[in-house]
Amino acid sequence: MTTENFQLNGQVAMVTGCNTGLGQGMALALAQAGADIVGVNLSDPADTRVAIEATGRRFWDIRANLSDASCLQDVIQQALGHAGKINILVNNAGIIRRNDAIDFSEKDWDDVVNLNLKTTFFLAQAAVKQFIKQGKGGKIINVASMLSFQGGVRVPSYTASKSGVMGVTRAMANEWAAHGVNVNAIAPGYMATDNATALRADAARNAAILERIPANRWGLPSDLAGPVVFLASKASDYVNGYTLAVDGGWLAR
Ligand code: NAD
Repeated sequence: MTTENFQLNGQVAMVTGCNTGLGQGMALALAQAGADIVGVNLSDPADTRVAIEATGRRFWDIRANLSDASCLQDVIQQALGHAGKINILVNNAGIIRRNDAIDFSEKDWDDVVNLNLKTTFFLAQAAVKQFIKQGKGGKIINVASMLSFQGGVRVPSYTASKSGVMGVTRAMANEWAAHGVNVNAIAPGYMATDNATALRADAARNAAILERIPANRWGLPSDLAGPVVFLASKASDYVNGYTLAVDGGWLAR
């Protein structure tokens, strides 16, 4: 084993929701390891393009509303039109809605589960068909959460979706490992991004969360760099169906 096994030169990685936050951090890390990036975004990923092109890698911009799974075949076709192939998929785009479980609406259930779970599965399904056609395996990295392991408070559809992500990561891994496709997930802990703005603004919750994190700080997008490159590279060829917590020790407590 050498550091060459972690290099992604000549690979094409599709990253959803990479205009900001964790997706941006992971897209940049994959580019720094040598991959060209196809970004799939709702809005202009201008900062991400600048950061990736500064590494010397290419960046292609696809716009799509991933809440609607009917666009996913087209997203793959557009990516192939730009890059000619796809080797890595990072299923990162996700949303959260907060309300007491007793008042939780069907819309807040459907919106979250459709994007976080249904699209994660069907985009992976569309990508794996392409991986099999290409005949060289592939890597799928889903983004799970602490709420793949825990129940959470006031976020029932998010918990359902992220618990589902951990489950389908295993299910997909079981069926696609024989094609040389590795399906794994990263479960970020409490990360300082837009997704966590409400929590960090609540002084009591913020203090309680920090007090429970052994590393004693919120995570940053750059904390996912090593884990995502590992799971996207040859170095993880015998890792299948695993959800890797990157949480400053939250789950260890
Ligand atoms: P974020 O809000 O900064 O990023 C979410 C991304 O998803 C953005 O790029 C957004 O444009 C994109 N997105 C939202 N709806 C979309 C749609 N309909 N179509 C296409 N793209 C859409 O938050 P983040 O923290 O960077 O979240 C990234 C992922 O990490 C999410 O799956 C989230 O659930 C997960 N996560 C975040 C944390 C945290 O503490 N921040 C913890 C665990 C998991």
